[in-house]
Amino acid sequence: MPPSTRLPHFWNRLLTGVLWITTAALALTSSANAFDTVILDPGHGAHDRGAAIGYVYEKHLALDTARRVEQLLKKEGLKVIMTRSRDVFIPLQDRSATGNRPRNAIFVSIHYNYNRGGSGAGAETYYHFSSSYMLAAYIQAYLVQRTSMTNRGVKSAGFHVIRATTKNPAVLVECGFVSNSSERARMLTGEFRARIAEGIAQGIIAYKKSD
Ligand SMILES: [Zn+2]
Repeated sequence: MPPSTRLPHFWNRLLTGVLWITTAALALTSSANAFDTVILDPGHGAHDRGAAIGYVYEKHLALDTARRVEQLLKKEGLKVIMTRSRDVFIPLQDRSATGNRPRNAIFVSIHYNYNRGGSGAGAETYYHFSSSYMLAAYIQAYLVQRTSMTNRGVKSAGFHVIRATTKNPAVLVECGFVSNSSERARMLTGEFRARIAEGIAQGIIAYKKSD
């Protein structure tokens, strides 16, 4: 630094102090995991049944699972917003609008999967923006650990709710295949849906504690 622009010692110290405080404040406020609100988005609803085999509808499984996750997260002191808590139709744009509304939040969409032929099995978690990857990875890891389902991995996709939710980390969980007869039999039991909900909730809490 040329002599003419050298700061007196006091001012130099002051500037260093201000810079340090600013950096510390930014580090605190920009922490990706400093959320206090979880937006849960049970897929489908009303005439939109989602995956369906006989009378087993994805819309019912997703809502039941989301309600269980809601209870577990509230016990941990987190605020929970549900995009739907009844069997109603919510347009995708309304779901992502809810996902963008609160600050310091994360968005978790809950679905069950389907494939033709019924051979598909296991759980997978999707993200769109790379800033949502870690949330997806934590949920996927705990979900698989808690349920012993086949690990189909963390995947990137452009589903509307995770693409249009831009203000908060957003993921979409596929909790097993309605089209797979053995997985369907398991997911019809409350005990198995409780395990799925525990996996999702534990993944969310582990992500919150990570940094
Ligand atoms: Zn779905």
